[in-house]
Amino acid sequence: MSRQIGPKLLPPPELVEALLSRDNFLIATHVNPDGDAIGSCLALSDALNSLGKKCVLLDKHPIPAQYLFLPGQDKFETFEAFNASGKKIADFDTLVMVDCNHPDRIGLSTKELIPAIEELKRALAGGMFTVVIDHHQTENGFGNIRWISPETAATGMLVYAAIKKMGVTITQAIAKNIYTAIVTDTGNFRFDNTNAEVFRVAAELIDYGVSSSETYENAFESYSGGRFRLFLGVIGTLWIDGNIAVSTVTTKMFEETSTAADDTEAFVSFPMLMKDIRIAMLIRELKDGTCKVSLRSKGAIDVARVAEQFNGGGHKNAAGCRIEAGVAEAKRMLLEKLREINI
Ligand code: 5GP
Ligand code: MN
Repeated sequence: MSRQIGPKLLPPPELVEALLSRDNFLIATHVNPDGDAIGSCLALSDALNSLGKKCVLLDKHPIPAQYLFLPGQDKFETFEAFNASGKKIADFDTLVMVDCNHPDRIGLSTKELIPAIEELKRALAGGMFTVVIDHHQTENGFGNIRWISPETAATGMLVYAAIKKMGVTITQAIAKNIYTAIVTDTGNFRFDNTNAEVFRVAAELIDYGVSSSETYENAFESYSGGRFRLFLGVIGTLWIDGNIAVSTVTTKMFEETSTAADDTEAFVSFPMLMKDIRIAMLIRELKDGTCKVSLRSKGAIDVARVAEQFNGGGHKNAAGCRIEAGVAEAKRMLLEKLREINI
């Protein structure tokens, strides 16, 4: 298959205009944030700050340990911390949703009663101006200005293009954050989404002083002992049927290894080391007895279609969803759906 080799990414003019003309930004990204989500938000906030604008970075969950090396990561606030600091959603004129495109994905669908979440829901219902910068193929038309580019490897690529268009000077901190966004979503340049433009941008970022080996070590070779024991436990649950691999992680396994949900990042992919495995799933038990599912695939197999059957979504080769059932039942439902839609 011939790879896309251009044209260079062009941000919509109205997006650049909105970022340049507005002043007080809430920048929010998806629950269980990954390197693309975190790096993209941090780079965007640095760029907007350099133009004299105010930004607050919000995420439902704290930053996972493997991303604490990112410059500025301490600027992220949970919704609870936002409330504790006395800020009000009404003080902001713009919400930017990064690496996601629906309020549910930033955590607004939670059943927990958190004042900042209730305020934000009210603000959105009242027409709060929202900008979306994302690259997921599953989308719902939310937002006043939307730049959703599923063919782009990482949201970090879009943010980088927008920052350059705004005329901001690229600092080493911006470069490190964008580079980490890209390596996260390309699996360190090995997934199918790694095209020539990805390498061109990565080369520029290296010129701004990013170290590829340091980034790799920080993002991928930084497991705690507990995380590695959890990994061994998850590998021990492996179940294979034909070209499908399923692994599971229970709340008990987290307790036994003193680990948490974000320690499972990338575990879903390990069965893909086997030549014959084309679809891998990781079913993670949640505290309320329901499950979070990660799906991965090789080549043309579109697992976003499977996730969408359960109100989730994502990309062709990487998607996720939540299932209101226990681990065994969720696995049965997923396998049934896979057979049904025959991907
Ligand atoms: P992961 O398996 O690493 O959590 O997620 C894989 C991809 O699917 C990511 O791009 C993520 O944003 C997306 N994703 C994961 N869970 C959900 C979900 O519940 N809903 C939607 N729409 N996307 C999801
Ligand atoms: Mn992403």
